[in-house]
Order: sequence, then structure tokens, then C-alpha cells
Amino acid sequence: MPVTEKINLLDYNRAALETFFVSNGEKPFRARQLMQWVHQRGVTDFALMTDMSKKLREFLQRHCCIEHPRMLEQQKSADGTRKWLLGVDDSDNAIECVLIPEKSRMTLCVSSQLGCTLNCSFCSTAKQGFNRNLTTAEIIAQLHFAHHSLLAEGYEQGVTNVVMMGMGEPLLNFDAVIAAVDMMCDDFGYALSKRRVTISTAGVVPAMHKLEQVTDVALAVSLHAPNDRLRNQLVPINRKYPIKELMQACHSYIDGYRSRKITFEYVMLEGVNDSLEHARQLVKLIGDMPCKLNLIPFNPYPHAIYRCSEQSTIDRFRDYTAGKGIVTVTRRARGDDIDAACGQLVGAFQDRSRRSSKYQLSLSQIEGVNLAH
Ligand code: SAH
Repeated sequence: MPVTEKINLLDYNRAALETFFVSNGEKPFRARQLMQWVHQRGVTDFALMTDMSKKLREFLQRHCCIEHPRMLEQQKSADGTRKWLLGVDDSDNAIECVLIPEKSRMTLCVSSQLGCTLNCSFCSTAKQGFNRNLTTAEIIAQLHFAHHSLLAEGYEQGVTNVVMMGMGEPLLNFDAVIAAVDMMCDDFGYALSKRRVTISTAGVVPAMHKLEQVTDVALAVSLHAPNDRLRNQLVPINRKYPIKELMQACHSYIDGYRSRKITFEYVMLEGVNDSLEHARQLVKLIGDMPCKLNLIPFNPYPHAIYRCSEQSTIDRFRDYTAGKGIVTVTRRARGDDIDAACGQLVGAFQDRSRRSSKYQLSLSQIEGVNLAH
């Protein structure tokens, strides 16, 4: 049974926790103590928080909880990538998060929504429709879970980088995402440097402007096309916020901040956006901006209408953009044998946006639907 009447303190960043403690007659520093217990030591039982008075611990036990999703399933890819399925809504629905180990870092790919409303034509999350925004607790719980799993296994550092590139559009769940990002970067939370936390957006322009006011974490923009005609097809939100406005928002995010750069993501779709002419247009568009270009080989999924560009085409594209001075990296597909690669995260949830029985998954179907190739 979920403890719905209790306040889930995992929803609160430090500022909100301080307000909570002060309004209950406690000192603000209790917020820092609680965060250290929960996020740094992985302790969620108030009774064990021994630097708080017995009275306070009893108060917390009575009125509060630290509730996070339950782990339903763990998968490990041949390349070390791990995918976790975390149950929410009494395990009626589930979110996926993916850990990508590399030599010097452990990157966690975090989801922000159950499904997505944006309907990008090459993304399998889009095909599932949309259920709801994740809460702050459900977002930070993904990091809590992955980080403490790693520490328990003896990894010294735990998670070192977070990319908000799982299911959903983070900027359409703005407040919850920002509160979670606060905890990721907080010295009493996960103490990740702002350069190591990346928010990725398909281009929700007004929210990008708002973002620059409240945080300076790294920003990635899913560009995928160098002109409006093509981008309208691939990333439909472009019809609302066309490339010119998107570029202005990008400039506005980095102008005046010498250390800021935008990462542009560009999925390589055979015969669609991968010609040298596209590369030329792209250089014109982003060449004057402090930025990095990530070429993402398209990850296939059942019934996809695209194919990944040939390696030689990707190399030619990269050589062109790199030759024009844009730092260009071709991203390696990670975890594709467990459907954990970009655009393959589908979670398992009931689609409330379309109410189509075709998309309604029950828990018993998760395995078949979610984990099959
Ligand atoms: N909504 C946000 C966060 C999702 S991030 C955004 O659009 O940025 C996931 C990244 O993977 C995005 O760049 C997305 O466009 C890309 N992607 C989606 N489907 C893909 C696929 N099938 N193959 C490769 N990349 C994909």
C-alpha cells in the first residue's frame, strides 16, 4: 500500500526541506542532515538517523516517508550497460533508467515522464503515447537507486554523470526536473558538478529561456535536421518553435557565459538527413556557436520507418562538420542488445493520452513487450 497521506520527503530539494523543517519548529540545518542520510548514505529509515533527536525522528515517522519506486527488473548488456525497470503507481506503470559505464565515468540516463507527448517520428518512446509527468521523487529516485546499487557493489564513486535523456521531455516537466537537478548538484545530495548534469530538450523554446534563469547545468538540444521543412517532420514541436527561435534560445543560454556550450544531437537516418548538403546546412546553422555535435546512429525498434545511415555516410558527415571546426563525436550505441539505447526506452505504462487498448500494458505484459527485441 502506498503511504499516500504521508509527505514523501524525496520530493523536496534542500530549499523545500528547510521550509518544511522551519515550519515545524526545527532548525533549517535539519534539511542538510536529512539529505546526507538519504542521498549520501542511502538510509531511508528515519529511526536510523541518529543525529536527530528521538522526538524529531518519531515526528518524521508519523508524518513523512521516503518512498521510491520498487525495482521490478534489472538487465545487463554485453557491453556492461544496465537497464532498470522501476515500478510506480503500485507497479501498474514502470519507468526505465539506464546506466552506461565507461572507463572514467558512470553515466545514468534518467527519465522525466511516463511516455512522451512530442511524437518525434524516429523515437520509440513516442509510439507509446503519454501517461503523466514523473514526480521529483520518482526522478531523483532513479539516481538514488543506481548510485546506491553501485556503492553496495563496491564501486567507489557511484554515478558520476546524469543525462536527462531517458523517456520524456524534461522541459515539459520543468519544476519537478529542476528540483531533482538541484538535489543532483547539491553538496548534501549527490554533489555532481553542473557540467556533469545534462538536460536534453527537443526544443521547448519558452522553457529554455526559463531554464537559463534558474540553473546552469549542461544543455543538449535534439536538433536532428538543419532546416524547418525536414525538422517539422522529424521533431514536430518544430512547427511550434521553428529553428530560428530555437537557435535564439540556444544563443541566449550560452551568451555571456564563457564556460557554457550546447551539445547538439543529430540522429543519423539513412537517406533522410545524412547527406553532405545537410551537413553544409548544419554547419551554417551552428558553426558560429560554442557547441559540440553528437551524431547518434539511429537505433532501430520494431516497426520503425527509418534505417540507420551507413557507417561510411556517418564518417563522411563527421569529417565534413569536424573539418569546419565543429567538435563532432559519433556516439556509440550502448546497450542496444537490451533495448537500452537512445530512443529505445519505452517503459511500461498505460497510455492515458490516447486511451488505446493497443498501448495499454499490464504488469504481466511488461516482460514480453518491454524486453523483447
Ligand atoms: N525529449 C528530450 C529527451 C529525450 S533524449 C529530447 O528530445 O532531447 C533522447 C535522445 O535520443 C534525443 O536526442 C532523441 O532525439 C534521441 N533518439 C530518440 N529516438 C532515437 C533512436 N531511435 N535512435 C537514436 N536516437 C534516438
